[in-house]
Amino acid sequence: MTPPTRDDTSGAGTSSTGTSSTGRTAGSSVRGAHGSVLVLNSGSSSLKYQLVHPVGGEAIASGIVERIGESGPGHVKHTFAGNSTTRESPVADHDAALRLAIGLFDEVGPSLAEADVRAVGHRVVHGGARFGEPVLVTDEVLRQIRDLTPLAPLHNPANATGIEVARELMPDVPHVAVFDTAFFRTLPEAASTYAIDRAVAQQHGVRRYGFHGTSHQYVSGKVARVLGRPLEDLNQIVLHLGNGASASAVRGGEAVETSMGLTPLEGLVMGTRSGDIDPAVVFHLVRNAGMSIDEVDELLNKRSGIKGISGENDFRELHEKIADGDRPAKLALDVYVHRLRKYVGAYAAVLGRVDVISFTAGVGENDDEVRAAVMAGLEGFGFAIDPERNAGRVKEPRVISPDWARTTVMVVPTDEELAIARQALTVAQGR
Ligand code: ADP
Repeated sequence: MTPPTRDDTSGAGTSSTGTSSTGRTAGSSVRGAHGSVLVLNSGSSSLKYQLVHPVGGEAIASGIVERIGESGPGHVKHTFAGNSTTRESPVADHDAALRLAIGLFDEVGPSLAEADVRAVGHRVVHGGARFGEPVLVTDEVLRQIRDLTPLAPLHNPANATGIEVARELMPDVPHVAVFDTAFFRTLPEAASTYAIDRAVAQQHGVRRYGFHGTSHQYVSGKVARVLGRPLEDLNQIVLHLGNGASASAVRGGEAVETSMGLTPLEGLVMGTRSGDIDPAVVFHLVRNAGMSIDEVDELLNKRSGIKGISGENDFRELHEKIADGDRPAKLALDVYVHRLRKYVGAYAAVLGRVDVISFTAGVGENDDEVRAAVMAGLEGFGFAIDPERNAGRVKEPRVISPDWARTTVMVVPTDEELAIARQALTVAQGR
C-alpha cells in the first residue's frame, strides 16, 4: 500500500507537515456520518494502518510499524491531522505492533472509540480459488487463509497473523478480509490457464490468479466516474506501477487478463522482481550455477527488476543515475519500458478496442518520463500523450492524451485503503 501521507519527519518527536499524497485529508470531524473503517495491511515485518471515512473517502489517520520481530528497535510512525509522530522501540511481534498503533490512537488521536469504527478491513494477498469476494472473517475463514500459504508463503501467514491479533484486540467490531486476487475471478479460462499438464495444474492450484486487484478495480471504476461514462461500455487497460507492478485488461468492469500469475512475480519488470522470464532460467541456475531453489527465489524476487540491472529500485534515483550517464540505469529503464509496451500491445489485442489506458501507483502517478516512453510512437494504435498534460502534477485523476486521440490516456491515483474500507463496510453492514 502507498503510505497515505508524505512528510519529511525523521527521528522521534512530532512535526507538523503532512500533505496527503492521496489528496484525502481528514476534515475536522473524526466521526463521519457513517462511522469509520480501520484498514490493516500486515506484512511479514510491517503493519500499515489507515483509519478511513468510507463514505466521504478521507483518510483520518494512518501509520506504519516497521521492523516487527527484527533485532534492534522497531520504527513506528503515526500521522493524524497533518502531524506525524515517530517512535523507536522494540516490536516483538504483530500483537505488540497493533498494541503500539492502538496506543498511539489513544495518545495522539483520534480516539478509536470516538471514531465509531464500524469494521476492520484486512488486506489479504491470496484468496486462491476459494475467495472471489470480500468476506466476514470467521475462524473457518482464517483457517482457509492460512491454508493458502503454499501459494503466498511470504504474505498469507502475515496477513492471517494480523487478522488474528486484530480480532483479539478489537473483538466487538466485524473484521472483513479483502483479497488482492478477487477482482480477477472473472478471468476467462483461456487467460487463467497455464499450458501445463492439466492434472498437475489442478491438483496444485497452478493457474493465473492475478494481484493488485483492489487497485485495478478501484482505478477502472474511477475512470468511468471521472469520464462520466458507463463502466459497462469501457474497454480499459490499467497499469499499476509501484514497487510491484501489474497490468490488467478490463472489459465492461470485468477483468479479462492480468500480468501477475500464480504469484506476484510474473509479468512486468518491477522494482526488485524480474517479471516474465524463461522458466528454464531456474533450471539453468540450479543445475549449472549451484544455486538452491531458495536462492533463485530470492534472486528473482529481491535482486532482479530495475534493481537487478542498475542497483537502484527507486525511479527517482534511477533518473538521477541516467542523467549522470550511468549505462546500466539507462538499460534498466529501457527494459522496464519495453516490457510495458509489449503488454500494452498485447492487451490491445485481447480487448480488440481500447477506450482508456490509465497509469497508477508510485511510478505511474509520478513519472511522466515513463508514461511518455510507454506511449511514444503508438499513434497507429490510437494511443498518444499530450506533453503538457502529461507534465502536470496534480493529485486528481486527469486525462493526459490529446483531444484528438482515439484512446483516452489518464493518470488516476489509486486508493487501495479506501477501496478496502468501502468493501469492508458493505460486508459488515450486510451481516
Ligand atoms: P508499493 O505500494 O508497491 O510499495 P508505491 O505505489 O508506493 O509502491 O510506489 C513506490 C515507487 O514509486 C517507488 O519505489 C518509486 O520508484 C516510485 N516513485 C515514487 N515517487 C516518485 C516520483 N516522484 N517520481 C518517480 N517515481 C516515483
